[in-house]
Formats: sequence, structure tokens, C-alpha cells
Amino acid sequence: LVTRMQGFGTTVFAEMTALAVRTGAINLGQGFPDTDGPAKLLETAAEAIMGGANQYPPGPGLPELREAVAAQRAERYSLAYDPADEVLVTVGATEAIAATILALVETGEEVVVFEPYYDSYAAIIALAGGVRRPVTLRPDAGRFTFDPEELRAAVTPRTRVLLLNSPHNPTGTVFGREELEIIAEVCREHDLIAVTDEVYEYLTYDDAGGGTAHVPLATLPGMRERTVAISSAGKTFSVTGWKVGWITAPPQFVRAAQTVKQFLTFTASAPYQRAVAYALREEREWVEALRVSLRAKRDRLSDGLTAAGLTTFRPQGTYFVQADVRPLGFGDGREFVRALHERAGIVAIPTQVFYDSDAGGPYARFAFCKRDEVIDEAVERLHRL
Ligand code: PMP
Ligand code: GLN
Repeated sequence: LVTRMQGFGTTVFAEMTALAVRTGAINLGQGFPDTDGPAKLLETAAEAIMGGANQYPPGPGLPELREAVAAQRAERYSLAYDPADEVLVTVGATEAIAATILALVETGEEVVVFEPYYDSYAAIIALAGGVRRPVTLRPDAGRFTFDPEELRAAVTPRTRVLLLNSPHNPTGTVFGREELEIIAEVCREHDLIAVTDEVYEYLTYDDAGGGTAHVPLATLPGMRERTVAISSAGKTFSVTGWKVGWITAPPQFVRAAQTVKQFLTFTASAPYQRAVAYALREEREWVEALRVSLRAKRDRLSDGLTAAGLTTFRPQGTYFVQADVRPLGFGDGREFVRALHERAGIVAIPTQVFYDSDAGGPYARFAFCKRDEVIDEAVERLHRL
């Protein structure tokens, strides 16, 4: 194993899904839906294959997808990007994160990232030879947030990038305007590049007053010119296995990421790009119905976890709900997840795996992007604990 990858074994998602498959357990570990995306989206991909869209598309992505992405950012967030040189199509958000960090972070440079963080961040920062500076999100009035002083203290003269995920996996926090303004101020003051992972941009649930709709950091003053925004079709259209993602950013960042991307994958899959372009243009209503259905699933699972005696952090967004396992008498999330599998036949993720510090000890993460009967069966089984 290359030295930079020491300590990075099998990802927790692969491990937990393999465990669920091997033992027939209910898989509330890895975040993927158990129903398909819109039928016309699937048909469009099949037609693209049968219609001969089977050779390398252009490296930066099919023009029709880049145009659809630019149109989506303009319509939804009033952010204007030129599809010719400010949009890059990638192999999922995972490649977008990799290409961006590898392009922007030099050996020894630092990346400020909120922990718990999505697992690929640590691995890619390490591959780039960078150093991560975690800022811990802690529970405060039922949701996870950061202490602005800790954020400011994490920045050093070597800091190059601030990597933000909102809506946030695994806590479910959707950062609000006030929090984003603090983050933006830190970026502007220290001349940092912001990389924003927005894969759950549509999956926000607390509608009261429109308070928790996703706000892209690039919409804040002085941020568009220093932000690389990342998204993915996987979550928005329930096609996590298709691996189509994208970057929107000023041309110099897109060029840098594309230079790296050329040698990672060169280009992303042609038929799926065509289908995703269609869906971005035409499937807004389907996505809204998905959001409404996921909100009900969030409540279904959160209520079940609460009824079973766990302290539950009902998320504002994403596929995931976190729970503190201590009220049930478990020492930490790892012990709980082991017992949950053995006694109840349910797989979840011990949130500690997403932390550098030990602040994640008490928590477990459950995915609720599952059919109602699967959630109900899991809730029923929680009583075996
Ligand atoms: N970022 C976050 C926060 C995620 O939860 C995921 C998981 N799907 C990804 C990135 C990766 O997205 P993709 O499957 O498009 O590579
Ligand atoms: N994003 C998904 C999760 O957090 C899983 C992605 C993966 O398996 N790499 O569960």
C-alpha cells in the first residue's frame, strides 16, 4: 500500500454493506435508496445506449449536461456559470472531490474540514499530501453546529482550502445563513478556496418559513469567485450507482480540476450523462416528490429510534439520522452497532469513523432512504435491544 494511504483500509460503507448482505440484515448503513429514479430517466439511459452513445464523450462532459447544470444553478440559486468553461462533469461527487483537492492542495498545505466528515475527504487530503484541520460539530439545541472561535483557530498560514458539506452527512445539519456568513468571512479574510459538497442540495426537510432550504456558499458576498461547488445526480435522482457528478466554479479552478480528472478517468459515462441532462431539465416534480417522501421517512425512522429510547437528532437534510446510544446503556456507538446487528439484525454506522477526535463516540448513523416497510421492520426490531 502506498505510504499516503496507510490507515485507510476498506471503507466503512463497503464493510457494512458486505456484512448486511452476508447476514441478511436490514441495511441502514450505506446511504442508497432501495427504489429507482424516475422511469423516463432510466429509459433515456437505455435509449442512449441502444442509440449508440457508447464512445468517449468530451473530457469536460457532454455539452448538453454542462448546459443543464448551468441552467439548474441559475434557476435555483441565481448563480450564473458558463457551461463552456465553468462546469466540469465528473464520475460522481467522489471524483469531483478528488480532482479538486488534488488540483488545489500542495504537499503540507492544510484543509479545514468540519468533523464528522464524509470518509473520502480524509483519504483524498492524504493522497494530495495535505493536512486536515478538523473543526468539530457538536450538538446544540437538537442539531449539530460549530463554535466560530474553533473555526477561526483552525486556520493557519498554511491553510489553502475550507471544505464544507451542507446539507451535512452524517449529522443532517443544513447550515443556515448566519453560519455560512461566518464561514464565508473566514474564507475571505484568509483568502481560502471554499470547496462545497452539495450532493444533498435537494434533500432538506424543515419547510417552516423556508428556514432550512439549502443555501450554496457561493451565493454569499465575495464567495462565487473562490468557491468550487460539487454536486451529483446520485442523490437527487436516486441513481447512486450511475456515478455522475459535477463541479461548478470559476474557470481557473475548473481547468485545474480537469487537468487532474483527465488522468483519473478522462471522462464520465456517456449514456448516463445524457440521461442526467434530461432529468435536470425535466424531472423537477419527481425530485420534489422524493423530498416530500424522504421527509416522511425521516420522521418515521426518527420517531422509531426515539420510541426505542435513543436520543435522536432529527436531521434538517440528507438521508441520515444520528442517535446518541447512551440512554440505552451502551458505552459507545461501536458497541451499540455490534449489538444492533447481533440482536436485531440491523446494520448501522458508528459515527466515530467520521471523526479524528473522539467526539463521535456516542453516536450511530441510520439511513432512512428505504421503503416504508423496511423502516417499519427495523423499528419493530429495535425493541430486541
Ligand atoms: N459527498 C457526500 C457528503 C456523500 O454523502 C456522498 C455519498 N454518496 C458523496 C459525496 C459521493 O457521491 P457520489 O456517489 O456522487 O460519488
Ligand atoms: N454516501 C453514502 C453514505 O454516506 C455512501 C457512499 C459510499 O458507499 N462510498 O452512506
